[in-house]
Amino acid sequence: MTETAYQAVPEIGADERAAHAGTVVMKFGGTSVEGPDRLKAVARRLVGARERGDRVVGVLSAMGDTTDELVALAHQVSPQPDARELDMLISVGERISCALAAMAIHDLGHEAISLTGSQAGIVTDTVHGKAKIVEVRAKRIHEALDDGQIVLVAGFQGVSSESFDVTTLGRGGSDTTAVALAAALGADSCEIYTDVEGVFTADPRIVPNARKLQSLTYDEMLEMSASGAKVLQLRSVEFARNHGVRLHVRSTFGDAEGTWVTEEDEMLEKAMISGVVHTREEMVYRVEGIGAAPLFDALAVTAVNVDTIVQVAENEIVFSAPTEDRADCERTLDGLGVTWSARDDLGKVSVIGAGMKSHPGIAAKTFATLKEHGIEPAVVTTSPIKIACHVASGEVETAVQALHEAFDLA
Ligand code: ADP
Ligand code: ASP
Ligand code: MG
Repeated sequence: MTETAYQAVPEIGADERAAHAGTVVMKFGGTSVEGPDRLKAVARRLVGARERGDRVVGVLSAMGDTTDELVALAHQVSPQPDARELDMLISVGERISCALAAMAIHDLGHEAISLTGSQAGIVTDTVHGKAKIVEVRAKRIHEALDDGQIVLVAGFQGVSSESFDVTTLGRGGSDTTAVALAAALGADSCEIYTDVEGVFTADPRIVPNARKLQSLTYDEMLEMSASGAKVLQLRSVEFARNHGVRLHVRSTFGDAEGTWVTEEDEMLEKAMISGVVHTREEMVYRVEGIGAAPLFDALAVTAVNVDTIVQVAENEIVFSAPTEDRADCERTLDGLGVTWSARDDLGKVSVIGAGMKSHPGIAAKTFATLKEHGIEPAVVTTSPIKIACHVASGEVETAVQALHEAFDLA
């Protein structure tokens, strides 16, 4: 965790917090703003909050599959698009949503202003494609809120403090924009509106009888996001924990209470296992002839998000990294002049729960369940609240369903 990256976000004092009481940050994901009718529904929700007297900030994602389409377009023009130009291109989707929502809000008789990440004061480092927010200069947002305007901030983007170029925050980055703004504006909580009713015990698309969780701790959610539950971007959860922002993940398409992500002592329920999470694809590398320190130092410089690490022998290390970091990772390994091999046929299934700290036997049950289904994990890693198994990509779905059933999570 990179604590330093967040230090510059101003801590809000008690007085200032009181002065800004009633500030709400509401984030809407891609499906929630897909098409004019859904955008108009989002506008009505934002106006509803304003009419209740709140100071309202909306953070919007790009409509539907816009970001995927823009990335695909770039690759049709250039096999390896320039990172700066790619960010210029893909940051556009969020701006479209915000401008359209502002128009819809005007038609509802309210004042609204759309802002790019840069105009909103989202200052980042210069790592194109996965920039970190280093500071939020919220002056312009405060001024607009003081004027009674609803402020729409384009998610997923910022501006580099060094190059002044547009940056993007990594896929799913609008979550992080929203949480960073909630922290900087002193909002009590951050509402994440999405296409599911909350955080579930497994991806409801794979396990139809998965159960919505009432609440879970920051640590559990960190593990879930890091292990592949894309409902919240990992960095948004880090940010929320570091700044004490309570998250409420809920559906755009209804008013039901969703899932709260919060401190352990505010938990509404305490389950032993909170979920089974998966990724369908993850690269697993085996590297020989280098120690852990220089290897991970080099990978950090190229901003590869290393996940699982297993030291197999003195100078032999196995680690995993997301598929999207493949090119950076392989270039780094080539540059180090080490012997390496990679597997691209694995995914990962992780059992997560704060309660497993005090309940032995979870690992045994995990392995027994996988074995019953003829699944042999290639790599196994654990933390106090997680057991993660890399299994063949084609077996991921079966493994998730079997473990969800075995731990009686429905
Ligand atoms: P948005 O566009 O609103 O940001 P995302 O697609 O990023 O939404 O995240 C929501 C999706 O996350 C859901 O549609 C669901 O398929 C997926 N997901 C994966 N794991 C989980 C989980 N444990 N609970 C809820 N959703 C999950
Ligand atoms: N539109 C961006 C993406 O698809 C950011 C986001 O939706 O959070 O990844
Ligand atoms: Mg998302």
